This record gives sequence, structure tokens and C-alpha cells, in this order.
Amino acid sequence: MHLIFIGAPGSGKGTQAEKIRKNLSYEHISTGDLLRLEVSKGSELGLKIKTLIDSGSLVDDHTVLELFSNNLRLGSKNYILDGFPRTLNQCKMLDEKIFVGSKYKTIYFEIDEERVLNRIINRRVAPKSGKIYNLITDPPEVDGVCDISGEPLIHRDDDKEEVVRNRLDVYRKSIVEIVDYYDKSSKLLRIDASLSSEKVYADLVKGLN
Ligand code: AMP
Repeated sequence: MHLIFIGAPGSGKGTQAEKIRKNLSYEHISTGDLLRLEVSKGSELGLKIKTLIDSGSLVDDHTVLELFSNNLRLGSKNYILDGFPRTLNQCKMLDEKIFVGSKYKTIYFEIDEERVLNRIINRRVAPKSGKIYNLITDPPEVDGVCDISGEPLIHRDDDKEEVVRNRLDVYRKSIVEIVDYYDKSSKLLRIDASLSSEKVYADLVKGLN
């Protein structure tokens, strides 16, 4: 069974997806990571994507769907979808064009906006290892350096406060209808994402059994 993680930026989807991937052998696919990879190639498409990401807007459905389906190997693996779907249209495209009958469960990471704003502003990421740090609650052992890979930590441009506020506006516009969509098909598990990372993980594992 596949897992779809929905919730505000900074609600812990990426952190929990990495834990589940390591401990329960899922594949983790993040549309944000795929888009950033495209940006890093410096292609024309990458430049367009960068402008949208840096302003906190969504990338168009067609581009996201193409990148996403090109990187999925359905059939052999169970996936955690992180950051997709993000609009009602993407929910429908996922059911109609990608999953087409595959079993999945949706996990909704519920958390208030002030808390995620604080988390994101203090978030630092290590792109190669995939580890996500919080300067206050989960800092690296050595300032600015990933404990696992030794690479320098990055403060994403779109994790700066004004962009985050825009990302939260965008999120607010679509989350109600996405939750409604999955609530109707009884595939939704709600998790209190304001708790510690350990507690969220424990609740998640309990909810999946
Ligand atoms: P994330 O890493 O999930 O926070 O995503 C970073 C940015 O990538 C978002 O603010 C969007 O600009 C873009 N993005 C990621 N996933 C999607 C998606 N499913 N649809 C549209 N844009 C996306």
C-alpha cells in the first residue's frame, strides 16, 4: 500500500517520510526535491520552475505530473508521496492516471500555521543525505554541517519568512478541498503534527497497522 502525506510546509512530512523509508522500507518521492533537481540542472524548464518556487507559487500541474510519473516505478515498490498531490486537480490526476486502482492511505499532518512558520524559518536541509535539521529543536552536532554526510547545510530561499507566508496562503486555498476529497473515500488518517518528531512517528506507525 502507498502512503500520501498531506499537510502544510514544515508540518514534518519530509522528516517522517525519511524515517518510514528507513525503518519500513518504503520509497520516498518528494515533488519538491524533483523540482529542485530540475532547477539544479540549469535547463530552461529549471529556470521557470525556480522563479515559481522562489516566489512560493505552485508549479503547473502538467510539469509536476510529468516529473513525478517519470520517477515512479509502480508495481515493485510501496511509495510515500511527499508534496503531491497539492491541488484537487492533482488528487484526481493521481487516482485516474497514476494509481488507477492501487491501494493507498492518506496521512494528514495537522498543525497550526504559527508553529510551522517558526519551524520553517529555523529549518536547514542537507540536500545529499536528505536530513532535515531545526536550529532550535534538532541542531546538527557541528554548526552548519550535516552529521551524516558532512555537507554544508542549506537555508532554502523559499524558507525565508515572506516566501513562507505566501506558501502558506497557497496551501490554505487548496487543503480544505483535498482533505474533503480523501475524507469522502475514508482513506484519511489525521495525525497531530505539532507533537515531537518521535511522538508523531509513533502515532504514524500505530495508525498504519
Ligand atoms: P516542498 O519541498 O514540498 O515544500 O515544495 C517546494 C516548492 O515546490 C513548492 O512551494 C512549489 O513551488 C513546488 N511544488 C512542490 N510540489 C508541488 C506540486 N505537487 N505541485 C505544484 N508545485 C509543487
